[in-house]
Amino acid sequence: MEQPAKPKHNEFHYWKNPDSEAIGESVVEFLHLLPGPTHIHITGEDASRCRAAVTLLHGNEPSGLYAVYHTLKQKIQPAVDIHFFIASVDAARQAPGFIYRMLPNHKDLNRCFKPPYGDTDQDFLAQDLIAKLQKLDPECVIDIHNTSGSSPSFGVTTFMDARHDALISLFTHRTIISDLSLGSLMEISENMMPTVTIECGGAQDNESHLLACEGLFRYVSSEDVLTVGHTDMTLEFFHSPLRLELVEGSDIAYGDHCLMSDGVTLLPDLENFNFGLVSPENKLGFVSGELANNLTAKDTKNQERLLDYFELREGELYPAQTLKLFMVTSNPEIARKDCLFYFVVPD
Ligand SMILES: [Zn+2]
Repeated sequence: MEQPAKPKHNEFHYWKNPDSEAIGESVVEFLHLLPGPTHIHITGEDASRCRAAVTLLHGNEPSGLYAVYHTLKQKIQPAVDIHFFIASVDAARQAPGFIYRMLPNHKDLNRCFKPPYGDTDQDFLAQDLIAKLQKLDPECVIDIHNTSGSSPSFGVTTFMDARHDALISLFTHRTIISDLSLGSLMEISENMMPTVTIECGGAQDNESHLLACEGLFRYVSSEDVLTVGHTDMTLEFFHSPLRLELVEGSDIAYGDHCLMSDGVTLLPDLENFNFGLVSPENKLGFVSGELANNLTAKDTKNQERLLDYFELREGELYPAQTLKLFMVTSNPEIARKDCLFYFVVPD
């Protein structure tokens, strides 16, 4: 009897030194020319060394793809071999384009980089990426994202040292040092190679694409990207953020007055507070019912910390102390599946 066919694993297609004429006349054309998740390898001046850049782990975050396209179109000569990994191609090109973080009913790819590994397409692609990085052994990895709301740019690292600072400062001067374990790609830094996340700013903003292009140019063409010295920017650090999340069973809406008879309403302009301070006087929104039945903010030890940072006054939600917010979303889908925002207590 025949064995059942092996499951068809989701893997990266390989494309070496694509001709600048073969990548289309726009980023959207380029996206549609890709056969699926794609690994693009360009030969550098010193082929004995290599670096990797990952992007489009989230299909609605196009800045990294703009930067890859720009690098190939401008025929930028890399200092070392460069490996681009373009991941959620299918989600990104779902009409009207760059709308889906992931396809409906799919897992968030940037939550699949830690055990236990499942057997979905996302898990296979994440494992394929890890296997390829292990084999190539690049001197570093950057993972380029956008925020869903408008926001200044920042980098995120789970590891604090000069190499990670140097990588982030190719793009931006704000660094978040996170010890949250979510299964994101940068967490491989612990056991593999220096890996950072770059959040270029809002997905809709041209400025974000420009920042990605300029940063990637430095990443690709510089002889050394792992020592600070290529910048005179003063780095700004934010330590150990927490995430404000919805409790399962609760729901969220965005509006200037309470829209949920049972759930959370956040003010729609909250994203203007990205990297700004909110004090106990700043109303954040409304909560119907008990605060703890609707929202949660756990620390790395899984301890509930919600009431240390937030309070309810007559149905209105306020910070209990001054906080700095970032990754504020006004997209209810992302708020439900990921979080409402991250926050730190300013120094
Ligand atoms: Zn992302």
